[in-house]
Amino acid sequence: MNWLMAQPPDVLRALPSVDEMLAHPQLAAWRAEHPSFPWTGLVRAAIDTVRTEVRTQPGHGDRASLTERAVAQVRASLDRLQTGGLRPVLNGTGVVLHTNLGRAPLGDAAASAAHAALVGYSSLEVDLETGERSRRSDVLEELLCRATGAEAAMVVNNNAAAVYLAVNTLSPPGRVIVSRGELVEIGGSFRLPEILRHAADAVVEVGTTNRTYAADYEREARAGDILLKVHKSNYEIEGFAHEATIAELVAVARAKSAISAFDLGSGALFDFAGHALGHDPVAAAVVASGVDLVTMSGDKLLGGVQAGLILGTKNVVDRLKQNPLRRAVRIDKVAVAALQAVLRAYLFGAPEYEIPAIAMLCADPVRLRDRAQYVAERLAQRVPSRAVRDAEDEAAVGGGSLSGAALPSAAVAITCRDAREAVQLARALRLRAVPVFVRVRGDEIRVNMTTIFPSQDDDLVAALAEVLTTRA
Ligand SMILES: *Cc1c(COP(=O)(O)O)cnc(C)c1O
Repeated sequence: MNWLMAQPPDVLRALPSVDEMLAHPQLAAWRAEHPSFPWTGLVRAAIDTVRTEVRTQPGHGDRASLTERAVAQVRASLDRLQTGGLRPVLNGTGVVLHTNLGRAPLGDAAASAAHAALVGYSSLEVDLETGERSRRSDVLEELLCRATGAEAAMVVNNNAAAVYLAVNTLSPPGRVIVSRGELVEIGGSFRLPEILRHAADAVVEVGTTNRTYAADYEREARAGDILLKVHKSNYEIEGFAHEATIAELVAVARAKSAISAFDLGSGALFDFAGHALGHDPVAAAVVASGVDLVTMSGDKLLGGVQAGLILGTKNVVDRLKQNPLRRAVRIDKVAVAALQAVLRAYLFGAPEYEIPAIAMLCADPVRLRDRAQYVAERLAQRVPSRAVRDAEDEAAVGGGSLSGAALPSAAVAITCRDAREAVQLARALRLRAVPVFVRVRGDEIRVNMTTIFPSQDDDLVAALAEVLTTRA
């Protein structure tokens, strides 16, 4: 116990005991309000925190002041437990698939389908005709096949699980052959090579960082191997660069009796070709290349919820379905309900209206500028001392999709006294009951309108006005 020796003994004497804390009038009031809460542990942790804080402070204060500090510490812990963690926020960053802010927002139809599945019983695993047990994702898989042209489909917990299951099922006796230019790290410590090494018998890297040819795969490939192509989700290799196309990989795999696979990552069903972005192929085009297996996320460009979508030939997908690990990575019923609705929007509806992520990516910049002007004008009325204006801006896709694509957009720009104040205001906006996330550019705060829902415009005015007024 080093700290015992490192600090003067009077610190220990000045700290309140657990019993003294519990008897404090403020704590007594909280305890009366929440009598079944386990208070002792929280109080002990608060005293520990104060002890650590004052340990190295010579003038640490007397028992009364340390007690107040510990009480404040208890309050902070309570706040965190009662209202901290996940809660709704306004996304003014302009990053549509913002991983830290929950990736794709879900549309109304899908959200109510998910809600109904959550709060009641559902036909999750029952055949309504016979009353017998059925599989939970039969219809979802058929919808996926119709939407992509795939022969067979399967859905698991997330795309990382899809890649893992695929490689784990297909690798013995084969190996995974992957380009050195495509060993991606996605963020949140997801490193593809590490997943592959866990899942596969052997990982064979081919090519170089910047150039990999079909011939590199061809030299290594043996019967039963997986030739894996990985979408360069969040980076580009420019200059002296080459990669094998999926069509070339398919041809090599066929010639060698190997299996071709493409981890698409984001994977779109919507064709963005007519819009400001889009050099990435839609999933259907990838499936049409003849590849044996495609994996992609449910909550990136698809615009649904967390899930891993697997598309492929019946032969290969059937093998994945036999893997006992399947149960460990199975999809939740809420995700089944939501994804069914999302896929129906693609097949029978208008995804550019019904799927929020697609709507944002296709948003008309003129309309965005109008909304930025509306917010800026109202804000200027409420906080006349501030320099507020609407401005041209750019939004981003995010989520490791269409990397580099910048979408024409508009923003509300607030000029601050200096860069330091801009950072402070951004922090104050994050610390509200409904946090607002903005971008800081020098001495300016920018709220991008692409990722603010039109229904949130007045909430945004109120939030900005509140923070700017208290800080004016
Ligand atoms: C995002 C991504 C993943 C991980 O998908 P999750 O759904 O987050 O598990 C895997 N591979 C690629 C190429 C990706 O872009």
